[in-house]
Formats: sequence, structure tokens, C-alpha cells
Amino acid sequence: MLGPVILAASRSDRMRRLISAAPVTKQVVDRFIPGETVDDIVPIISELTAKGLQLTMDVVGEDITTPEQAAAARDAYLALVDHLKDLDLGERVEMSVKLSMFGQALEGGHELALANVRPVVEAAAAIGTTVTLDAEDHTTLDSMFAIHEELRKDFPGTGCVIQAYLFRTEADARRLAAAGSRVRLVKGAYKEPAEVAYQQKHEIDKAYVRVLKTLMEGDGYPMIGSHDPRLISIAQELAHRAGRKLDEYEFQMLYGIRGDEHLRLAAEGHRMRVYTAYGTDWYGYFMRRLAEKPANLQFFVRSMITK
Ligand code: FAD
Repeated sequence: MLGPVILAASRSDRMRRLISAAPVTKQVVDRFIPGETVDDIVPIISELTAKGLQLTMDVVGEDITTPEQAAAARDAYLALVDHLKDLDLGERVEMSVKLSMFGQALEGGHELALANVRPVVEAAAAIGTTVTLDAEDHTTLDSMFAIHEELRKDFPGTGCVIQAYLFRTEADARRLAAAGSRVRLVKGAYKEPAEVAYQQKHEIDKAYVRVLKTLMEGDGYPMIGSHDPRLISIAQELAHRAGRKLDEYEFQMLYGIRGDEHLRLAAEGHRMRVYTAYGTDWYGYFMRRLAEKPANLQFFVRSMITK
């Protein structure tokens, strides 16, 4: 019940101002967003990759309001690429981007987001890695998939995300399950209306399995973005049935969530990629993590009271 309320708050400017200014213990935000600057994050990249984990890096931010902010987002990713170049980790560290941070919602936003994201994808390719386009709310997806298709003409390894809770996703998965495509499947983290999305957990889980089956049986590279133990077992079984080797799909989880499971899967020989967010504009990302698990909210509220 609390989840939808928190998700509504995640889009409210008033709540953003209130919560961002609250005496939130840094410890609570840090659990999910372990740094503010690229210099903070480089030691974390080194530490996690030394443990056999792969990473996808997210510079937090979304829903920007000016073209200058969109250009700043592009530059923040380009600065990250400069640091990754020195680390020389190739595709072990890729990047995830939200097109709303690149200007997608502004006037002429589709072209602006494409123009801003392209140099990041080019720079990533130059150091031997890739970019994945995150999925945001359903109104943004036609533009995201069109940008994905456009980028793939020059950079076929560009990935995208599909969300099991949306009715459209089964058709998107059939289209995307083609050779060379990299597709991350997640349950979906936004507040979506019943006209476009399943609302019940059991319906979303069932849809996740149907879509995963399509991806596993297809010719692309499935990226299983979930912490759900049942779905992880099912993914292993579907990969086995489809005759996929361990390097023909990967698991992905968020930094700060089920860390032991990251290491367990990596130790079993699976490719395990940790989605690691950093930056100062953490509000939307942080609120979605609270919405996913009400116990996080209790921890958050307690830390504000005891501060
Ligand atoms: P759940 O059933 O929600 O969780 C399973 C178990 O995982 C829970 O019981 C709990 O133990 C643990 N858990 C899950 N979430 C939390 C949490 N926040 N705090 C503590 N424990 C938790 N969504 C999008 O809409 N677009 C994206 O582009 C996107 N990218 C993602 C990338 C990755 C790598 C991952 C892992 C998720 C991404 N998501 C994205 C979020 C996703 O849609 C879900 O909201 C999120 O993963 C929770 O769903 P779950 O599959 O882990 O299952």
C-alpha cells in the first residue's frame, strides 16, 4: 500500500524539497548511492570489480528542466568515461542512462536526448564498453526505443530496458530478442495506471517469466535485472533449457540490495553486474528504492527521528 504513495511523492517537487532538505542520515542514502563525485566512485569500481563483479554505472538525475542541465548530464558521463579509460576495464564496466536526464522531456526533447546521448555511446565504444538506456515511465518509451534503434545502427551493443509490468512489453520483447541485442528485463519501478500495466505482484511476476522465456529462447543477450530469488532460479532453469552458456546472459542487481547474492552468483560462474548509482541528484532514484520495500522507509524514518 505504501509503495504507490512513495512513488507519487517521488514525482512531487514539494516532497523533493522537503526530503532533500531533511536531516536524512547520509548512511541511509549511501546504502543505495555510494558516492557523489566520480572521484568517490572510482575506488568503489575498483573494489567491486576486484571481487569478480561487473558494473553498470548510473550518474543519478532525471526530469531536468533546461538544455544546459541536459548538456551537464552528458558531460558528467563523459567525465566518467575518462576515468574508466584509465581503469581499462572494458565491458566489465558499462553505463546506464536515463534519457529524461539528457533532455527527452524538453521541447524538441527526442532530438536533444539523442544528440546528448550519442557522444556518450561513442566515448563508451572507444574504451570497449557499452551503454544501456534505462526505461522510465510508459509515456517516454516510444522515444526511448526509437533512440535505441537509431544508436544501434552505429553501436549495435547499445542496450535497453523493458519492464514486465507493462502490457506492451511482451511485444517489445519479441521484437528485441534478435541477434546482437542486449536487453535488461526488470519488473518496473514507476507508478503506472491500470490501462497500461499490471498492478498485482503475482501478475507482474507471471509476465516477467513469459517475457524472460521469449528473451532466453531468442538470439539476443538477456540481462536479468531482479533480486527476486524465485525469478533468479527460473532464469537459470530457462537459460539451461535454451542451451545458453554462462556467458550468454547475465544477472544484474542494484548496489546495496542483496550484496551476498551478488557474490554468490559470481562465485558460481555467472556474470553478475551491479547497477551502481552516484551523484548528488539522488532524490528520484532513492525514493524508488524506498517504494520497493516498505522496510526501507521505516529505517529511513527512524534515522530521521533519532538524528
Ligand atoms: P521484488 O519482488 O521487488 O524484490 C525481491 C526481493 O529483493 C525483496 O523481497 C527484497 O528482499 C529485495 N529488494 C528488492 N528491492 C529492494 C529494495 N529497494 N530495498 C531492499 N530490498 C529490496 N526499473 C525501471 O522501471 N527501469 C529501469 O531501467 C530499471 N533498471 C533496473 C536495473 C537493475 C539492475 C535492477 C536490479 C532493477 C532496475 N529497475 C528498473 C527496478 C525494477 O523495476 C524493480 O523495481 C526492482 O528491481 C525491484 O524488483 P525485484 O525484481 O528485485 O523484485
